[in-house]
Amino acid sequence: MRETSEARYARTFRPEGSNYRWQSVDVLQYKEEGTAPFKDVTRSVLFEEAELGYQWRYFEVGAGGHTTLERHEHVHAVMILRGGGQALVGADVYPIHPFDLFRVPPMTWHQFRAGDDEPMGFLCLVPSERDRPQLPSEADLRSLRANPEIARFLEQTRSP
Ligand code: MN
Repeated sequence: MRETSEARYARTFRPEGSNYRWQSVDVLQYKEEGTAPFKDVTRSVLFEEAELGYQWRYFEVGAGGHTTLERHEHVHAVMILRGGGQALVGADVYPIHPFDLFRVPPMTWHQFRAGDDEPMGFLCLVPSERDRPQLPSEADLRSLRANPEIARFLEQTRSP
């Protein structure tokens, strides 16, 4: 296998200030506006290495914000780095604390919501080649809301 010279260099990406940013790592849009419901989320790609086959991202959700309610075939490994809030994963709603780890199994509805007082940030590991997220249908939402705990959670992440 041919190696580019760049591939042989070690690199460090130091934190930039104390704001959960890293030098030379761009802060990107979470998703294209209008493609899916979400509120106040940014995305940074920390590592995308062909050899690993994985992409390691950092997401930050502003106070009171939330990610998209979605499901897909690929698995997420999520580690909370800062802040609190709640996570819906499958049939359960979990409190979020720094250093909590979540495994989101295939085809499992999931959504992360920051608490109202501070941003919540997490690392998320995914395969580089992955299927597109699916959004819930009205029927999916009805069956999710049949669980009162999930109904309460979804009430707080409803987009205007
Ligand atoms: Mn997802």
